[in-house]
Amino acid sequence: MAGAQTDSLYLLKPDRVFDGETIHTDWVVLVKGNKIEGAGPMRFKLPPSTRVIELKGATLLPGLIEGHSHLFLHPYNETSWNDQVLKESRAERTARAVTHAEATLMAGFTTMRDLGTEGSMYDDAGLKTAIRKGVFPGPRLIVATRAIVAKGTYGPNYENADIDLPQGAAEVGNKEEMEKEVRTQISKGADVIKIYADYGYGINGESEPTFTSEEIAAAVAIAKSSGRYVTVHSSTPEGMRRAIDAGVHTIEHGNEGTKEIFQLMKEKGIALCPTLAAGDAIAQYYFGWKKGTTPEPARVTAKRKSFAAALKAGVIICMGGDVGVFPHGDNAREMEMMVEYGMKPADVLRSATSINADVFGYGDKIGRIKKGLYADIIAVQGDPSTDIHDIRKNIFVMKDGKIFREP
Ligand SMILES: [Zn+2]
Repeated sequence: MAGAQTDSLYLLKPDRVFDGETIHTDWVVLVKGNKIEGAGPMRFKLPPSTRVIELKGATLLPGLIEGHSHLFLHPYNETSWNDQVLKESRAERTARAVTHAEATLMAGFTTMRDLGTEGSMYDDAGLKTAIRKGVFPGPRLIVATRAIVAKGTYGPNYENADIDLPQGAAEVGNKEEMEKEVRTQISKGADVIKIYADYGYGINGESEPTFTSEEIAAAVAIAKSSGRYVTVHSSTPEGMRRAIDAGVHTIEHGNEGTKEIFQLMKEKGIALCPTLAAGDAIAQYYFGWKKGTTPEPARVTAKRKSFAAALKAGVIICMGGDVGVFPHGDNAREMEMMVEYGMKPADVLRSATSINADVFGYGDKIGRIKKGLYADIIAVQGDPSTDIHDIRKNIFVMKDGKIFREP
């Protein structure tokens, strides 16, 4: 891959290594070319060409994996979502996405699952290729291209029946259109299929289910036979239930998930990507919440409860914040909130590395410090397995064996 020198050798010497699952205090990590050559107590024979990098006081980890991003969005308190979709050119949005990708990598996130371009068509697939070619620095991308929505349920949508506005996602009207759209997206470079199983199109703007279980299942069948999977945006119990019945692989948000729904997810091995940080940001943008000053809105309190229910049910928890709603590069916000909402710091680190890698289907390539995997490695000062805030104290970033930041 671009940038990595096939014969370069690095010996990384941190205070401790989080290997994706547990902490080791006596490990070093040897990197050869773009792969991890070995990890463990120091008993490697080193050729004289080996470069030793001291990471004193630091914890070395697998490159972090952002599970839910929108590279083509920037925070809604800068520009509303409607205005981003309608008034920003594709060139502007791509230029922004390039800076977003660089900020993400420099924050220690070496892989990112991008779940919908929100009006920028298949441009995520193009960015993924450009990053791979070394045109600009960015994380490895797992892309959805356009999200799929039921006709008439998404946006932008104004109170004028006479105009059809450009939409932030691909609209389909029935099972056949769904099947065709999935095939189109695969041909355009989608690694994952993202479907909105519910959305706020109820009479008073409430979230209501959008597709039938059969319609979602039709997408799942095509995605599956291609080796891909379907993830759904879903907040309502009924939307989640239909998606679970249809055989989806992950559920995004899950805000109103109940004990019963989370038990079903646990039984079927469906992972939840809770996006705590997005709900928190939206409550501040749109509901006038001044965090730390005014009382917590009911929707935020409800989210704490549903997240606790998911944890209690033992659902697989991904780390994904819906970054783009809040600033790119601030991905750690979700990890901090997962701890604030009841997870142990070490479990959050697992979610952001080995669990995300396994759930997204890349566990044999990334997400662990293990011989033979890609050398996607970061180091932070302190120990984020005891204090999650330390995950921000980034001093070393390596992706594919190439160093982007070092002490
Ligand atoms: Zn999202």
